[in-house]
Amino acid sequence: MKYDAIIVGGGAAGLFCAFTAGLRGRRVLVLEHNDRVGKKIEISGGGRCNFTNLHAGPENFLSKNPGFCRSALARFSPWDFVALVEKHGIGHHEKKLGQQFCDGSSGEIIAMLVGECAEARVEIRCGCRVEEVRQGFSLETNMGDFGCDSLVIATGGLSFAKLGASDFGHRIARRFGMRVTDLRPGLVPLTLQESDLRLFGPVSGASLPVRVKNRGRSFEESLLVTHRGFSGPAILQISSYWNEGDVPVFDLLPGKTLSFRPGGTSAPALFSEFWPRRFADAWCSLRAPQKPLNRWSDRERRNVLELAHNWPVAFGGTEGYAKAEVTLGGVDTAGLSSKTMESRSVRGLYFIGEVVDVTGWLGGYNLQWAWASAQAAGLSI
Ligand SMILES: Cc1cc2nc3c(=O)[nH]c(=O)nc-3n(C[C@H](O)[C@H](O)[C@H](O)COP(=O)(O)OP(=O)(O)OC[C@H]3O[C@@H](n4cnc5c(N)ncnc54)[C@H](O)[C@@H]3O)c2cc1C
Repeated sequence: MKYDAIIVGGGAAGLFCAFTAGLRGRRVLVLEHNDRVGKKIEISGGGRCNFTNLHAGPENFLSKNPGFCRSALARFSPWDFVALVEKHGIGHHEKKLGQQFCDGSSGEIIAMLVGECAEARVEIRCGCRVEEVRQGFSLETNMGDFGCDSLVIATGGLSFAKLGASDFGHRIARRFGMRVTDLRPGLVPLTLQESDLRLFGPVSGASLPVRVKNRGRSFEESLLVTHRGFSGPAILQISSYWNEGDVPVFDLLPGKTLSFRPGGTSAPALFSEFWPRRFADAWCSLRAPQKPLNRWSDRERRNVLELAHNWPVAFGGTEGYAKAEVTLGGVDTAGLSSKTMESRSVRGLYFIGEVVDVTGWLGGYNLQWAWASAQAAGLSI
């Protein structure tokens, strides 16, 4: 069977691209190997899908070529997606920092995408495994052979393999002579080294606001202690800028002034004004003098305060793709047109969404990239 375009991957980018092209009269087929489309959207935003960020701009993305995403993001803005959501009567709200969430559930976004595909007469086949791809293009699958003029790869990144993530997109790129940049987990919890884990593991669940800095980047968000290390928005954000051997520095009292009151208070009691008591106990047990505050010297006070505002933490590693929200790196943008996402070397071959070396911060940016890159390709195929 011959189509104008076949899209491999029925996730955020694939579905959006499919109906964009379908509405232009193209005959489009989506091939998804899961039993249903949009599984990652389903769990996104804790089940409420943080579907965009109103402030999304190129500065919120990591890529070997930071300017690559500019054109697509400019042509399909967060407001364009909000307009689509509102056209479908989906209630939404801003949580913080421009992050837009569904009032109900992520299922509403999936239903919207599938509904748009139906209107655009897009054919969707789930449970379909692509076994062979030949230039031209012809695809051999467990459901038979298909041909198309344009082939769009929208198979996403490597994280959350249990939801269907695969390296298909990266393999296809290499197979057609295109480059793939180094890949690593992003927006991922970081694990503590043994000695720190002994101290903080038992206070798992404690959370506090921090400012964390690494490689010239800083994020002010909350930190969550886990049984393997640190997580929470501050950690997920900085993890995308973390490389092995880096030692991020934490301000555990961002924008706060600690006043040493006279009296016999202990250090944990003092810090627990701002931190959960369990965290204060653990932190102070190694980093503060073990005596009442009124017996601290000026130098001891200065040292402890300095450390609370500039606490270096040497992490052991990350929790890997199983816990990462995204994959850093992907199909090298040097081989793609920033206007259409088409390969510069293989006519008719497109890459969109997370499979491309464009990775957003936490907060709705990754889905905005999925929509924007999908629209760029959908208007071209
Ligand atoms: C837990 C979690 C929460 C997240 N929350 C948010 C959030 O709230 N906001 C946000 O902006 N981003 C969020 N993200 C990131 C966001 O979900 C992804 O960046 C986005 O879904 C990428 O879209 P995509 O279409 O490129 O890939 P995906 O949505 O992952 O879709 C890829 C599709 O391709 C299919 N596929 C893979 N290989 C094959 C193959 N060989 N054959 C056929 N089909 C294949 C997959 O099954 C999948 O359906 C979250 C990620 C995770 C893991």
